[in-house]
Amino acid sequence: MPKTIVIGAGLVGSLLSMFLAKKGYQVEVFDGKPDPRKNNLNSGRSINLTLCERGLKVLDSIGAGQSVRALAVPVYGRLIHDLEGNLTFQPYGNHREAIYSIARNELNKVLLDFAEQRFGIDFSFQQKCLDVDFITPTAELKNQVSGQTTRHQAERIFGADGAYSAVRLQIQKKIRFNFSQQYWAQGYKELEVPASVNKTWTSEKNVIHIWPRGNYMLLGFPNLDGSFTCSLHLPFEGPLSFASLRTEEDLLRLFRDSFADAFPLMPQLVNDFFGHPANSMVTIKCSPWSYQDKVALIGDAAHSIFPSYGQGANAGFEDCAALSECMDEYGENWTRVLTEFEKQRRPNTDAIADLCVEHFCELRDLVGNPGFLLRKKIERKLNQVCPEKYLDLYSMISFTQMPYTEALRLDREQRAIVEQIMNVDEIEEKLNGVEADCFIESFIAPSLTG
Ligand SMILES: Cc1cc2nc3c(=O)[nH]c(=O)nc-3n(C[C@H](O)[C@H](O)[C@H](O)COP(=O)(O)OP(=O)(O)OC[C@H]3O[C@@H](n4cnc5c(N)ncnc54)[C@H](O)[C@@H]3O)c2cc1C
Repeated sequence: MPKTIVIGAGLVGSLLSMFLAKKGYQVEVFDGKPDPRKNNLNSGRSINLTLCERGLKVLDSIGAGQSVRALAVPVYGRLIHDLEGNLTFQPYGNHREAIYSIARNELNKVLLDFAEQRFGIDFSFQQKCLDVDFITPTAELKNQVSGQTTRHQAERIFGADGAYSAVRLQIQKKIRFNFSQQYWAQGYKELEVPASVNKTWTSEKNVIHIWPRGNYMLLGFPNLDGSFTCSLHLPFEGPLSFASLRTEEDLLRLFRDSFADAFPLMPQLVNDFFGHPANSMVTIKCSPWSYQDKVALIGDAAHSIFPSYGQGANAGFEDCAALSECMDEYGENWTRVLTEFEKQRRPNTDAIADLCVEHFCELRDLVGNPGFLLRKKIERKLNQVCPEKYLDLYSMISFTQMPYTEALRLDREQRAIVEQIMNVDEIEEKLNGVEADCFIESFIAPSLTG
């Protein structure tokens, strides 16, 4: 079988290599960084991810689901920490549905092992892609240790090289290429809460902890060993920002005032904060995702989104499954495979990109806000009373494999009903009363068609 080259051995590149090998292609994967299985350097970028139904189903289809689940912590909702130290639990679903928290490095390592051992994929690390010749097609790679440059030809080259894709840059130069990128004014830094025997909030391990504070927030993701990986989200510039936190005292004051219950459990806070970079968040949309039948983009290289719904990797995994279905349908007609793949996926990745921007504002500003909590309560009630007719947006995204475009369409239809209920006089009493189910049903029956 002809050779396919994948640039990028991250989450999507390693999974894509397996789908291609399963179809009989000989696959070679190159990555610019060292093999994560051999290097345990903490760069401050070892974030935690959450995987949901969508991503896990794709991993199951290739046989890797169980190995990944074994490294993940199920989380059933958010635990909101307010300024006074009060905790409010918001379940993600009505039926103990969970998403799964896992360190991105660990997920990457397990996928690399699986691809190597089960599919015989050939990975080469510290080989940075500098250029792609689209006609032959050939990738020019630079060995990051020796400095030597080599050229590797294949029948087809996939760019799975992330948000700052070198392959995309080459397509951009080659054809009429649409491209947009939007940076968020906020960034994030990774901070650690080590495993502790103290009975504090850390004993709540099956939740994501959130400290929403208006235009900044702290998030805590559980790890299997009982530690938490936190991310502090702050504006880059402004009165309270990464730029304004210059001294140890500035930082400690912020944590004492805003995150008083987290602060005592962060012995490495000062080192983590001043030792780790402030990472940016970007939305990237582009088209087309391919050049003839020779070069194509996938995963973050094709669409990069804010992490608020925890969907970037999940969507990238769905890309791999969708590409595989197009291969089933159109066989060796790769021009068709790639155009149909983009036709299916791009409206969906554009939709989730926009939803993520919207949800990021909700998380930061509204999660601790009474209006938002009331809306969540109404949505839960609607789902309890009529589970077959009403599913809230978060559930559609996280607990189904419904296309993102369809989730967006249904949400816009349903939103009007929630707004209507929110505006009813003495709504809290009605929701808590014995007639609550009938009250809720009266809104569903005439409005929702299922
Ligand atoms: C803070 C944060 C939180 C997130 N949370 C979630 C979450 O909860 N759930 C979720 O599903 N997603 C989440 N994401 C998104 C997720 O991390 C990405 O969508 C996912 O990693 C994309 O995978 P990828 O393989 O396309 O790209 P990447 O993971 O970026 O991998 C790209 C690979 O290409 C390599 N590479 C880059 N350039 C070159 C080159 N020139 N030559 C050779 N190799 C190269 C890189 O070394 C890397 O290994 C989050 C992202 C961030 C930033």
